[in-house]
Amino acid sequence: MEQALKIAPKSPHPTNKIAAALFGNSKIGEEYAVYRTNHWPDPIYEKIGTQTKIGNSSGTIHAETAAILGAGNRTENASICITDPFCPNCAKNMAEAGIKTIYIDEAGFDKDFFKRRGGHFDRMSMQICERAGIDVYALDMINETSRTILKIDEGYVPIVDSPIQKEPIENASDAVLADVIEKATFHNKRRKFTIALVEDQNGEKFSLLARAHVVVGYSLERSDEALELLTPIGKYSFIQEPVNRMMMHLSRRGYKIIEDYLYCSQVPTSREQVNLVGAEVKRITIGNPQRCRDSAGLDAMEMLRSKEILSYI
Ligand SMILES: [Zn+2]
Repeated sequence: MEQALKIAPKSPHPTNKIAAALFGNSKIGEEYAVYRTNHWPDPIYEKIGTQTKIGNSSGTIHAETAAILGAGNRTENASICITDPFCPNCAKNMAEAGIKTIYIDEAGFDKDFFKRRGGHFDRMSMQICERAGIDVYALDMINETSRTILKIDEGYVPIVDSPIQKEPIENASDAVLADVIEKATFHNKRRKFTIALVEDQNGEKFSLLARAHVVVGYSLERSDEALELLTPIGKYSFIQEPVNRMMMHLSRRGYKIIEDYLYCSQVPTSREQVNLVGAEVKRITIGNPQRCRDSAGLDAMEMLRSKEILSYI
């Protein structure tokens, strides 16, 4: 937390200066740490600037999500320290990335920024953590005390309705990707999905398939809550879009995309595209370039394409 508080003032954001420090264990048991502030990814900062929205999304990446995308290592069971209470989108990302414990600076709860938006923290972010099985604590750095906000029961295992599908592949090529896309399209005619050809930390190669789904821990098969889960709350929803889900899963397992072999059956949302830029992805293959959750995603594609920030095939 000390490190997060130390770097937060370096955030390029003029008013909301937020930082996160993520601590994990690599597959071979080495400890690692990643520190990030909320920021504009370099290509967006340089070519578009800070005043323009990308479709309907801000051009910034939140600190927690930036730390996960920048981990370059396995985030499963990692801990994260954040200077401020987190938004529902970061809650979803931390859940999918397998974060186990979240520490929030107690002082963050006193800021105006939080007071204006606190409803989302209680109503969505904490619910998401509860279902995903994430412990949440507040750390009072001045008095050196901690407060338990959420403690998960021992042995709790979150529901996973629609797991990421993983198949071994011998190598990554256009032909292999085309083959995986064809099979996935046949089985997922009415659902949007993403495919990535990836390599693990031992050099083993796989194809991964992620579908859009409510965030881990929630089930659409439970009729008592399905409608509530599918109804957005303000600008947030419980749905995790497939590209985002895939990017968080890559961090969770410490996988790397091989040569930008990344596919989405339709145009990703504005937020997903900004996150791809933040993850330093340069190219994405799109199934149906006319189709998107909303027209803002198409605007984002046009903007990022014309500025040569992301290429779309
Ligand atoms: Zn956030």
